[in-house]
Amino acid sequence: MGPLQIKNILQTSPENQSVTVKGWVRTKRESKNAIFIALNDGSTIHNIQAVAEPGQFSAELLSTVTTGSCLKITGQLVESQGSGQAVEVKIDDILVYGTADPESFPLQPKKHSLEFLREIAHLRPRTNTFSAILRIRHALAFAVHQYFNDGGFFYLHTPVITASDAEGAGEMFRVTTLDLNKLPRTEEGAINFKEDFFGREANLTVSGQLEGELGAMALSKIYTFGPTFRAENSNTTRHLAEFWMIEPEMAFFELEDNMNLAEDFVKKVITYALIHCKDDLNFLQNRLAEEDKNKPQNERSIPLLEKLSFVVDNPFERLTYTEAIEILLKSKPHKEKKFQYPVGWGIDLSSEHERYLVEKHFKKPVILTNYPKEIKSFYMKLDEDGKTVRAMDVLFPGIGEIIGGSQREEDYDKLLGRVKEVGIDPENLWWYLETRKFGTAPHSGFGLGFERLVLFVTGMSNIRDVIPFPRYPKSAEF
Ligand code: ATP
Ligand code: MN
Repeated sequence: MGPLQIKNILQTSPENQSVTVKGWVRTKRESKNAIFIALNDGSTIHNIQAVAEPGQFSAELLSTVTTGSCLKITGQLVESQGSGQAVEVKIDDILVYGTADPESFPLQPKKHSLEFLREIAHLRPRTNTFSAILRIRHALAFAVHQYFNDGGFFYLHTPVITASDAEGAGEMFRVTTLDLNKLPRTEEGAINFKEDFFGREANLTVSGQLEGELGAMALSKIYTFGPTFRAENSNTTRHLAEFWMIEPEMAFFELEDNMNLAEDFVKKVITYALIHCKDDLNFLQNRLAEEDKNKPQNERSIPLLEKLSFVVDNPFERLTYTEAIEILLKSKPHKEKKFQYPVGWGIDLSSEHERYLVEKHFKKPVILTNYPKEIKSFYMKLDEDGKTVRAMDVLFPGIGEIIGGSQREEDYDKLLGRVKEVGIDPENLWWYLETRKFGTAPHSGFGLGFERLVLFVTGMSNIRDVIPFPRYPKSAEF
């Protein structure tokens, strides 16, 4: 398994045993009596301190040991003399794997802005903040698989390239091998996609749901967890052009079961992070508190760990869209015309409305159900009144929508009617419609944007800072 990780070495009891540590220098400090090197290998937020005596190494060697350089240090693991760490390495030997010229290495031991770090995304995992986020992201991904595996779900790999544009018309990325400078034309002059790689138009997927439903109609409970692409030019702090989506789909689940699963699922994965990412969450909590120091008392946020525990420990508020509209119509910002977008039955709630409900009115996560069919997708099951559908959105503080889901329409005729109503050619969805012809079953599912979950758990405020290499309008550098 390679060399011991710093995380493990820090937990070893010091008995003057010889150790080898490999990692990147965070800081080097020279005093009269000793030289201190703080080394980090990304296995933990904590550095290991390595100590040399003055004169033990040449000035030439020491001059290459600078912030960002990569070292192999051999020495003895001893009890630390200083405070702040239990153990340290008494250095016998230093090998410099790679130097980092202080004149040009952009990361210095000081605070850099998140915006600046986005411009050096190739190096930002070397910062405390980003390594903490990446470790938490990993833990959450692991917890997702564990949760579903324990629950009897099967991981279904749905395609990244799709020919059905049913869901995301307008916000899809095209996939083609045609020569853009020499497009083949039909006799009518249109682009002839018959000559394209797949013999038809193809795009990157905006959701694995439709294929997920096919899986659920055989395996009963499946989930997908894969990259999803949306060419939305929205430039918000909650949207990426490439993000990871988790989509469970379950046969024999009605809306109520779907809500119960969604609530239990997010609570369990957050709990996993609370148990396994204590050091990183503490670090991020302190970072937020530090930022908050400059803000007036009433604008300061609740400590991160408290916020996460609160979500885990309290039931989410459940109400219908119609009830939510009534609350919004009676609200102060509505009466004082403070909302940017007007409120009324039938509107697609905007994030300011969602956040009012969650942050001001209920002060906890909210699940809204039974939305007007006009603002939801064609595949959602119609309610008896024919006006609303069995949709459910889970809304979170600071984020707004984190999950969107529904009970699906399992009746062939009703589904076909809706497909035609919204102007989709049923020919394009023949395979999807056939599931309703051959052994149809009540079923439900939802989609959780993985980065929105990571955003919530880390307390970060921009989604671009919780994925290693963010894709957004005009940005695909790394
Ligand atoms: P929103 O209204 O916030 O754009 P949506 O209604 O388009 O979301 P869905 O199509 O229901 O979202 O997708 C399911 C989930 O995927 C959302 O609840 C959200 O968590 C996530 N999501 C959607 N679009 C994006 C995006 N561009 N970047 C990151 N996550 C996204
Ligand atoms: Mn969207």
